[in-house]
Amino acid sequence: ATPTALLVGTGRGAQLGILIRGPEVLESTRRVDTVLLDKTGTVTTGRMSVLDVRGHADTLRLAAAVEHASEHPIARAVAAAVPDRPAVASFTSHAGHGVSGIVEDRTVWVGRPSFLAAQGLTPLDLPSSLPSSLPGTVVGVGWDGAVRGLITVGDTVKPSSSDAVRRIRALGLRPVLLTGDASPVALAVAHEVGIDAGDVIADVLPAGKLDVVRRLQGEGRVVAMVGDGVNDAAALAQADLGLSMGTGTDAAIEASDLTLVRGDLTAVPDAIRLSRRTLGTIK
Ligand code: ADP
Ligand code: MG
Repeated sequence: ATPTALLVGTGRGAQLGILIRGPEVLESTRRVDTVLLDKTGTVTTGRMSVLDVRGHADTLRLAAAVEHASEHPIARAVAAAVPDRPAVASFTSHAGHGVSGIVEDRTVWVGRPSFLAAQGLTPLDLPSSLPSSLPGTVVGVGWDGAVRGLITVGDTVKPSSSDAVRRIRALGLRPVLLTGDASPVALAVAHEVGIDAGDVIADVLPAGKLDVVRRLQGEGRVVAMVGDGVNDAAALAQADLGLSMGTGTDAAIEASDLTLVRGDLTAVPDAIRLSRRTLGTIK
């Protein structure tokens, strides 16, 4: 394509709410055949709320104290559920796993149950501890050597996500859901937006997202990755095309080639179509 065509394409992108790092990005956009979609904050709104709390009476209060210091959508939901929180010291974020901090002289851990187990905390033994009717993410809360409570949080699929997935398919691309969350939640979201169960990659740690991109590239695929979180940044940078949500973190935006200003996934097929048009493969 001529430099003029590329500039026109870039300008048209801006009108569609797609910020393009440089005109050369349109070339890699055109060749993409696989679209990896992060779940939380990308396919879903990322605005979570607390659905259920079980276990020790201090579970929500202590968790909220630690989560108040975190930017994660889960953290915002937990912190918002308790207006009067105790203070936290030595806050630490363990990306893709959870958080920890000292609250009222105890080290409190909040995060994936498997992460808490790896910290040496004894699992909580509740009869029917998983509320099966709630399609939520279960987060463990532990202190003094044991997991003492479980909090279920959930968010909703963005209204535009199903339409975006349908249009991604219509362009001949394969949508894949890639998430650090547990597979029951991932499968429920995939089903809702029309991604095949076989194309769900769940329980992935942040470094694992990068590995998935590399593995697919090793199989000859040209990979677009769409994400919003700090935990997506490495995968966004490795992908042939990295797309960030304008509503996402600075780390994700800086690692990406395209930013979808409105945080709406329908801008993904828009971007692919735009690059095909600009580079003359379709009229
Ligand atoms: P996604 O890939 O869907 O955007 P993340 O990689 O951000 O999800 O998080 C993966 C998992 O790690 C979450 O489902 C949760 O179990 C746990 N986790 C991460 N951050 C936190 C936090 N601040 N509080 C509690 N749990 C967390
Ligand atoms: Mg995310």
